[in-house]
Amino acid sequence: MIDVAVVGLGPAGAHYARRAAQQGQSVVAFERGSVGEPLACSGHVSRDLWEFLPDAAPDRLRQHEIRGARFHVAPEDDGYLFYRDEPISNAIDRVDLDRLLVELAAEAGAEIRTNHLVTAVEEGPESVSLTVRGPDGVERVEAAMVVGADGPQSTVRRELGLPEPERFLVGTLRHVPEPDHADHVDVYLTVPGFFAWRIPRGDAGVEYGLAGPPGYDVVDHLDNRLAGHGVPDGERFGGHIPIGPPERVHTDRAILLGDAAGQTKPFTGGGILYGLRAAEIAARKLDPSALDTTAYERAWRAELGTEIRLGRWLRRAYSLPDPLARLGLSTLAGEIDVHMDEPSSLFSKDALTTLFRG
Ligand SMILES: Cc1cc2nc3c(=O)[nH]c(=O)nc-3n(C[C@H](O)[C@H](O)[C@H](O)COP(=O)(O)OP(=O)(O)OC[C@H]3O[C@@H](n4cnc5c(N)ncnc54)[C@H](O)[C@@H]3O)c2cc1C
Repeated sequence: MIDVAVVGLGPAGAHYARRAAQQGQSVVAFERGSVGEPLACSGHVSRDLWEFLPDAAPDRLRQHEIRGARFHVAPEDDGYLFYRDEPISNAIDRVDLDRLLVELAAEAGAEIRTNHLVTAVEEGPESVSLTVRGPDGVERVEAAMVVGADGPQSTVRRELGLPEPERFLVGTLRHVPEPDHADHVDVYLTVPGFFAWRIPRGDAGVEYGLAGPPGYDVVDHLDNRLAGHGVPDGERFGGHIPIGPPERVHTDRAILLGDAAGQTKPFTGGGILYGLRAAEIAARKLDPSALDTTAYERAWRAELGTEIRLGRWLRRAYSLPDPLARLGLSTLAGEIDVHMDEPSSLFSKDALTTLFRG
């Protein structure tokens, strides 16, 4: 019997597979398609990403460096710029991020099986049994534990009867191949409960996107906005964004990671960094031969729980009436020392000093 079966080779699953294999565990990882595709992500990440990757990774993945964000309350206003003097975040090649993480997992000794769809998961007292459909037919795989890193619509979560994230948003994006070297992203608080965006990607082009609640036709709204501004057509992508982790993301022999566990920032929907951090915690806490999945549950909530709770409050500010939103943004705008993955940094001494600097 193998030690760990990982379902899903997005960033969370691939990073966990790598770390577990490095610890000498036998790991098999299943991905239903080919790695990284279809794209469903902007790949806008804080520079913390590089801590999880080899030194050469930025040269391979980085498309553009970003120093701030301009928030707009109405589509045509000048907006309120929040910035730092140094780069805060990067636009990266997201498909290649997934490929790199999978290469690293394979180098560490994990067995990678692409084009393998996990269709059923049964948990017994001594092992977990997976039904997997691949190019050569259907097989059963026994493992001491399973890691459900299979994204927002997780099969592992459903099969094991674990609760769903609090809510889902739907996101869409369009890549336009016109070089854009602006040093900030634009955020338009013009969507019910969420926002639209524009991300410069350097020579790789520019991205326009929009996310909103289910039932809000994000594609139609984005198309209408962009048509009004004469933005050329481009490749389109999209996907679901879970917001708010469920109350439990483990069973005795299974854990959920990343989007499957709702480990995203409620105020942006971004989940790459939280998924990587949760994978790191899981690899540290879990030993398949003496399994205690509650240790993982406690540890990831201790590290990310407060940020997610504060992120929920930040997200509520998107629904403020326009005059209040303008007042808040104009008071806070300028150079500000906050970390884009850590809402708690809004309350740091440096951030408060900057805010009340006079
Ligand atoms: C429009 C949009 C824009 C976004 N922009 C950003 C951003 O700029 N920055 C950011 O940090 N986050 C962003 N996100 C969120 C980010 O994409 C996710 O948080 C991140 O991909 C989660 O990683 P993951 O490994 O948990 O899951 P995923 O990346 O979803 O990977 C899950 C993998 O599991 C596979 N899989 C699913 N079911 C099965 C199965 N039954 N058997 C085998 N394999 C299976 C899937 O094919 C997939 O490869 C965005 C999301 C959307 C929708």
